[in-house]
Amino acid sequence: MDKSAMDRTQDAVVTSGHCTCGAIRYAFTGKPHWVMHCHCASCRRAVGSAVATYVGVKADRFRYTAGTPKAYPSSPGVLRHFCGDCGTPIAYTGDRWPTEVHLYHGTLDDPAAWPPTGHAHIVEQVDWFEVHDDLPRYEALAGKGVAPLYNGPRKGSR
Ligand SMILES: [Zn+2]
Ligand SMILES: [Zn+2]
Repeated sequence: MDKSAMDRTQDAVVTSGHCTCGAIRYAFTGKPHWVMHCHCASCRRAVGSAVATYVGVKADRFRYTAGTPKAYPSSPGVLRHFCGDCGTPIAYTGDRWPTEVHLYHGTLDDPAAWPPTGHAHIVEQVDWFEVHDDLPRYEALAGKGVAPLYNGPRKGSR
């Protein structure tokens, strides 16, 4: 298969998701740009749980297929999008990532799709919460040329 044919195959993959009540539905095509857990306090509060897991997709491959979420600025230049009917957090967008939409993994129709590849803002991780994978842990955000602090769970947690 030549490269363009492979690209077409990947582009044909459609991933969909929805909020708890179903008023908001979305879909994106192709592979996500990245998939990460975020342990920062702002994300924790936004999802009401110990960690927020994101699927980062290119905005031009993403669309809402039902409803329009509400949004509020959780920090300057940042919008948290949620269902105005049931309150489910749907997505995060920020001026820093103008071409991306960061979807909350828990809203995917298939939770087995697109497993995470790393942990961000690990220094804010709550003491009693650990994930026993071998993925890289980043002090803040992952990115080109950013080395993880370590891989796998904190020492002494297993
Ligand atoms: Zn809803
Ligand atoms: Zn965060």
